[in-house]
Amino acid sequence: MALIVQKYGGTSVGSTERIKNVARRVAKWKAQGHDLVVVLSAMSGETNRLIALAKEMQEYPDPRELDVIVSTGEQVTIGLLAMALKEIGLDAKSYCGWQVKLTTDSSHTKARIQTIDDEAMRADLAEGKVVIVAGFQGVDELGAITTLGRGGSDTSAVALAAALKADECQIYTDVDGVYTTDPRVVPEARRLKTVTFEEMIEMASLGSKVLQIRSVEFAGKYKVRLRVLSSFEDEGEGTLITFEEDENMEKAIVAGIAFDRNEARINVKGVPDKPGIAYQILGPIADANIEVDMIIQNVGEHGTTDFSFTVPRGEFQRALTILRDVQTHISAAKIDADDKVAKLSIVGVGMRSHCGIASTMFRTLAEEGINIQMISTSEIKVSVLVDEKYLELAVRVLHKAFGLDQQPET
Ligand code: ADP
Ligand code: ASP
Ligand code: MG
Repeated sequence: MALIVQKYGGTSVGSTERIKNVARRVAKWKAQGHDLVVVLSAMSGETNRLIALAKEMQEYPDPRELDVIVSTGEQVTIGLLAMALKEIGLDAKSYCGWQVKLTTDSSHTKARIQTIDDEAMRADLAEGKVVIVAGFQGVDELGAITTLGRGGSDTSAVALAAALKADECQIYTDVDGVYTTDPRVVPEARRLKTVTFEEMIEMASLGSKVLQIRSVEFAGKYKVRLRVLSSFEDEGEGTLITFEEDENMEKAIVAGIAFDRNEARINVKGVPDKPGIAYQILGPIADANIEVDMIIQNVGEHGTTDFSFTVPRGEFQRALTILRDVQTHISAAKIDADDKVAKLSIVGVGMRSHCGIASTMFRTLAEEGINIQMISTSEIKVSVLVDEKYLELAVRVLHKAFGLDQQPET
């Protein structure tokens, strides 16, 4: 008998029929003698709908009140699942974040989990109940409802698994595991039997939304056994997130390709090449709480240089407005900007011990006539910024060039 935390995503609870299907799956695990804590997302599309409602009221919704609104999606699904389970003869009890209680800091819309009280849940499990917890939400020390950022139910599930010392945390979604890249973009993408924590953290942070990055960080920190599986298939082992030293790891150098359309590029041209210029440009951007991702500053010629960086697409206009002031202040010649760019990244721990990976990437893109606008690298990834219209082509050719459609030798 094991204690298992299962999380079902938006598509998996997208209708009452699908919630009944989740209830049947839960019942099957229960019948095998396991204790179950089930974490749910809101029905698919619901969180977007709630955000849109809030934006009808305020262009930039008040963060505290936005959390009050968007957290309601999960409250609906947990109640429905509890009812569905009772209908098939199982005892179940639902909990909102504040009821658990799962406390967070007060950074509304991107709160971080601080503590989880497992007492009530343990008592319910001891009585044979299925415990159902609303994902994505918590409560701060002032008693305000908080949310954990988009995709945050993954993190709720892993954090609960860590707090309860569960034997496994299973993330059920609409694909049957983590693939070499998004299978909706590259049909030849292959499911990985295992992927390392490091690779998964990179892939999640570089745009693969199959797991929220914080959930993977949590799993790594608290050594939670984490698996991604399909909620629509009855069989299948999904993908296990492993530590690097694990045996029978797939031996590919590049494990996967991630991409992110949420990018916009800003190029400040002809800025004086002198100390303090990066601070003068990026300081006001940081003060406005706009996150900067890739940065390039060229070697100057004739006393001036170009300075380029990327920001999230949603912040593009705000960043440009700020920079118009900066431009006058630092006497930059011109600002050239483009919000139709995308970042794609190859990721793999094998890159540490192999060279030539980046050059294969650049050659493959060159052969397709795809221009690289920016590059950034770390030990286990290479990212490039390209025109968004070439993104899918770029992902497909790189997927092939690195043999990701082929089963690697183990
Ligand atoms: P859920 O609602 O269950 O949380 P998400 O939509 O957040 O599901 O995440 C699942 C989706 O992630 C898949 O439908 C797939 O399109 C996308 N995805 C992106 N990259 C990958 C990848 N490398 N492997 C699997 N799925 C991926
Ligand atoms: N419902 C939230 C979202 O859409 C949380 C989640 O699904 O994980 O982002
Ligand atoms: Mg998700």
